[in-house]
Amino acid sequence: PEESGASRSLLGRLFSRPGPGPVLRRTLDDEMLEQLEELLIAADMGVDTALRVTSNIAEGRIGRKLSSAEIKALLAAEITRIMEPVARPMPLYPKRPQVVLVVGVNGSGKTTTIGKLASQFKSAGKKVVIAAGDTFRAAAVEQLQVWGDRAGVPVLTAPEGSDPASLAFDAMTRAQADGADLLLIDTAGRLQNRADLMEELAKIVRVIRKKDDTAPHNTLLVLDATTGQNAVSQVETFQKLADVSGLVMTKLDGTAKGGILVSLADRFGLPIHAIGVGEQIDDLAPFDPKDFAAALTG
Ligand code: GDP
Repeated sequence: PEESGASRSLLGRLFSRPGPGPVLRRTLDDEMLEQLEELLIAADMGVDTALRVTSNIAEGRIGRKLSSAEIKALLAAEITRIMEPVARPMPLYPKRPQVVLVVGVNGSGKTTTIGKLASQFKSAGKKVVIAAGDTFRAAAVEQLQVWGDRAGVPVLTAPEGSDPASLAFDAMTRAQADGADLLLIDTAGRLQNRADLMEELAKIVRVIRKKDDTAPHNTLLVLDATTGQNAVSQVETFQKLADVSGLVMTKLDGTAKGGILVSLADRFGLPIHAIGVGEQIDDLAPFDPKDFAAALTG
């Protein structure tokens, strides 16, 4: 296994010494706890979560000699405990079409995630329609069409600069007429003008509710794991802009080990529906807390 990632090198440092060979056991004292805290903060877990995790590990164990493997196991158990409640696949409701609004900043992986989701549902025998709702980015629309072709799913588009809500309305009409199971709606990710974006998202929701007053059934926020603690403010922002119901964390295949997910889970408790683990169409995986904790603790 690779040795990259702040968590690994730091956990290694916790048990290394100047001479040859690692320290086999270390007394759990204030110094070690402080180092452990630093390690968790450096791994993007955020200060509050790092403090809580560390104090849970310390409880009843101060003064004990622990091995690196024991610390790892305690840490993995703490992380798993935080992550288990949020590891939930996207809920599906008995509605046709299921409407999934996909939000997130540009570059987070929205387009790619929509392509992957479309492919997954299509492979499961579902009829899927995509609406290219980021009508201001011609490149995004083109890219979505490429993904639609790959997945074998129709992508509804509108001329550049046209109203995304009117595209969403047309897409609802088409998806209902076709008896589609799933409608995935891409949205703009320009945070430069939040008031505009908020109005845009609100209008999309308003018009699709004219066709189904329970829609959208899911509002997925796509986050890029490599942005670290930035993800916290993105969740806060998008919760104000839309009724976020779940998260997809992309780019967990890179060096980012996703400590930020622990921070988000601890702070917001939003379900994590899936993780992006690559740029290919099949690179969308369910979120598994145990595997995740094992990868994070190294
Ligand atoms: P959007 O602007 O939010 O629609 O983002 P895109 O879907 O265009 O993705 C931005 C970049 O991130 C592209 O180069 C994607 O190939 C890449 N990307 C998206 N998801 C993942 C992932 O899970 N892993 C990796 N390694 N790259 C990803």
